Amino acid sequence: MSEVRGAGASTPAAVTTSAALEVADLSAGYGPVTILRNVNLRVAPGEVVALLGANGAGKTTLLRTTAGLLRPSSGRILVGGQDVTRAPAHQRARAGLCLIPEGRGIFRNLTVAENLRLSAPSWITDADFDGVYDRFPILRDRRGQTAGTMSGGQQQMLALARATLAKPSLVLVDEVSMGLAPVTIDIIFQALKTVAAAGVALLVVEQYVQRALEIADSVYLIKKGEVTSIGDPSHAARTDLFAEYMGQSAESPASPDGRAAADTAAPGPTSR
Ligand code: ATP
Repeated sequence: MSEVRGAGASTPAAVTTSAALEVADLSAGYGPVTILRNVNLRVAPGEVVALLGANGAGKTTLLRTTAGLLRPSSGRILVGGQDVTRAPAHQRARAGLCLIPEGRGIFRNLTVAENLRLSAPSWITDADFDGVYDRFPILRDRRGQTAGTMSGGQQQMLALARATLAKPSLVLVDEVSMGLAPVTIDIIFQALKTVAAAGVALLVVEQYVQRALEIADSVYLIKKGEVTSIGDPSHAARTDLFAEYMGQSAESPASPDGRAAADTAAPGPTSR
């Protein structure tokens, strides 16, 4: 695997064609305000990468830019070796990329089955739908239920199911645990592991740092739009960088804002 260095590295990032995602020297922002600065990040096929950072660091901005919802000012984005830097979001989806946005991105007024049908490409077969229901049995039981009336955890399951239906090679996951109780977060992370075990690469932004470290093969930190790779998650606890970027060690429970409190902490506000 090629090494991609963080911002400030003296050598430019190597771009290989084999990565599920390669972000090279990417800068982006909102209007005149630059948020992401020369970001380099790589997700290998089937790899789970955690992107961690404090509130406002630019995590969602990086996911949105990668998914094609925000236009970069410079840099390159490759999905499965295909340069999608200037491609619209739907073309990136065809290249294998899928974003599960914060807030889940499901149609709350439609049923579970309608949500799945709407997100299915034309080539999806009945057997594919069955496969999704096999992976997420709770959704089979509730296929006729209006999505907005399900629990937060069930809605997140639906978001994951929608994401996997089109058989993506890369899923960008933004704060899946948002508003969920710890026991439900366990189930969602188990589902994420199942998705990853099927060979899908994941780029995971997560407020519960310890959970992210548990499923990650590799970790990147982001601070004020600058990204640094710290590699193996077991290094997170040992590196000063972690404390610098997160304001905490990997083993300490809370970030400065308290949001990334231990997994046993009270859940955040419900999304329902
Ligand atoms: P959080 O963990 O709080 O969601 P984040 O790391 O995902 O934070 P972003 O949401 O990417 O951070 O925000 C990065 C910066 O960009 C913040 O300063 C934020 O205020 C700013 N920002 C985000 N969205 C917009 C927007 N639509 N217009 C202008 N500025 C924005």
